[in-house]
Amino acid sequence: MKRLFKNANVITHEGDILNHQDILVCDDKIETVGQCSDCEADEIFDCTDKFIAPGFTAMHVHSPMNIFKGIAEDVNIDDWFNREIWPYESKMTEEDIYWGAKLACLEMLNNGITAFADHYFKSDVIAKACKECGIKADIAYTIFGFGGNCDEELKLAEQFVRDYRGDKLISPRLGPHSPYMCSKEVLKTIVNKAKELECGIHIHVSETSRQVEESKQLHGGQTPFEVLNECGGFDVPCIVGHGLWVQQSDLKYYRDTTCTAISPKTYLKLGMGKGNLWKYYAQMNPVSGNDGSASSNSIDVLEQIRMFALLGKWEDEAEEFKLKDMWKILMDGHRYLNFNSGRIEAGYSADFNVFDLSKCSTAPLYNPLAAILYSAQAASAITDTLICGKFVKRNGKLMLNEREIVENASHCAKEIYTRGKGTTKLYF
Ligand SMILES: [Zn+2]
Repeated sequence: MKRLFKNANVITHEGDILNHQDILVCDDKIETVGQCSDCEADEIFDCTDKFIAPGFTAMHVHSPMNIFKGIAEDVNIDDWFNREIWPYESKMTEEDIYWGAKLACLEMLNNGITAFADHYFKSDVIAKACKECGIKADIAYTIFGFGGNCDEELKLAEQFVRDYRGDKLISPRLGPHSPYMCSKEVLKTIVNKAKELECGIHIHVSETSRQVEESKQLHGGQTPFEVLNECGGFDVPCIVGHGLWVQQSDLKYYRDTTCTAISPKTYLKLGMGKGNLWKYYAQMNPVSGNDGSASSNSIDVLEQIRMFALLGKWEDEAEEFKLKDMWKILMDGHRYLNFNSGRIEAGYSADFNVFDLSKCSTAPLYNPLAAILYSAQAASAITDTLICGKFVKRNGKLMLNEREIVENASHCAKEIYTRGKGTTKLYF
């Protein structure tokens, strides 16, 4: 199957604009980019005045938590976690996880996210949901450490990694919850297992100032980053969730295979402060995150990075947090995923978005990056999305059965409310 996207304006990974480009997609890959006047194709799409860019990535998601969207509002982070979310989560069923993940996939596809990094338990259920939706997912099997049966969880996680490695849509890794939920011994065991399985890890690090203080008290002055480093966490590809309260002395642990998934909407909503993220982000390999809809209420990375830029500019830094740097944060997630994606170039997987920037919200068009970053709503500006050369959204319409997914997720939500909260032995 050959599809030709004619006369498009390509927005590169770096945020440069290449005008009048023909993109020939052969099955799941981009075959050529440039001038293609005599190319033969089964389908031809006129993309005059349209913009084509690599798909967005959401690099820290708890997709099943989409089912909790709006369940815990106007609470501080301790209450959010310990009194609201975790007690509900402790009574979650596989059905809740499946429909929560599916709803998340649907929302992500609507917002131009072609690949995401998930962090949750019951990874096999999530993988099934993602495959049915046709979205690419790097799924970290979460291991809780304290409060969980670590040996048992690690065995299941290993099986998950073995089952899904080599899959076209699913890339597995291990997900130790955090340095505060896992002892050093547990962290070392998980990292060694990741080395053995040749996969990466995905972990929460230094989310709150309290976590940093408690880590220092417990570990003889070590920050969560220092604890993770001692356990070998940076020896393997590592997605750091948040890193909001990173210390200057932690920056030296970053390697080419380490990235930080940033989720400003969650930090704003739960009153977590600005930490040191805005100060040091450029040295932390920043990528767009989300944290899931229980805290962010949406999975929209464009919204997240817009907030990041605006919060950065606030207080007399209007000349910083430049368009191209923010665009790079939206694109860079691909570098840390195993999906051969993130570039509109020959040989790459055909995972991209088509933008129509001629609508009232984005016209007139002086600067496409500004239109996308500061004017557009992702769901309406992105008219078409392809993953592995297949349309997941076409002419503004999702290819999935939205009604079925929403109805099932809403049914689960009702049950969750009726069932009420459980008790948990964990404390955040
Ligand atoms: Zn998280």
